[in-house]
Amino acid sequence: MLNDLLSVWFPQCCWNCIQPLAKEQKWLCVRCASKLPKTYFEQDENNAIKTMLKQYLPLEGAYAPFYFIQHSPIQKLIHALKYQGKKHVSHWIAQQSAQHIPKEHPVLQCDGIVPVPLHPSRLRKRGYNQVTGFGQYWANVLDVPYLDKLLLRKNQTKTLVRMSREARWEEVKNAFLVQPQKEYKHLLLVDDVITTGDTLTACGNALLNGACNKISVMGMAYAQNILP
Ligand SMILES: [Zn+2]
Repeated sequence: MLNDLLSVWFPQCCWNCIQPLAKEQKWLCVRCASKLPKTYFEQDENNAIKTMLKQYLPLEGAYAPFYFIQHSPIQKLIHALKYQGKKHVSHWIAQQSAQHIPKEHPVLQCDGIVPVPLHPSRLRKRGYNQVTGFGQYWANVLDVPYLDKLLLRKNQTKTLVRMSREARWEEVKNAFLVQPQKEYKHLLLVDDVITTGDTLTACGNALLNGACNKISVMGMAYAQNILP
């Protein structure tokens, strides 16, 4: 009752176009949600993410449901998720991705889900890892453990996108530490926006060296054509 009254006084608005949202809609109105830039990577086993990463990281599968495009609804949502405290966006993006990817996809054949970790100081500052809702959603759907203590970030790394490939790799190659409790067959590493792939490569190789035999990666979005 109170919520109904509040929604009349303070209607929830679309994060993209600021129109009031219908009661059953979250974050985006139907029109803006339909304009999310889909990758259709679920139809292509050798998609751009897998092609980018496979020379540095042996992968079972790679996936992201949306392209990360400047000023698009997905960019606004991920900005809200990372910088405006809207941590529930993460779960909503996972729900959207579930509409596209079939259960038989290689990335979903995992026996555990591992988030790309934040450095403890960044985690304290933000209060949450932005990928948690996304990873936990898939852990629930697949009925596998969400392993957010398995991989730790030792070093606070700088923003990688403006660096050369060599400098990026120097920055991340020793940034992660695995604390294995048991051996997994196939872990799915989850991230927010997949950009250079260097962080995923460092995390994935650390996991392959200490925690599992196979690895896949999944992001909320993929940013293409941004490397120097
Ligand atoms: Zn809208």
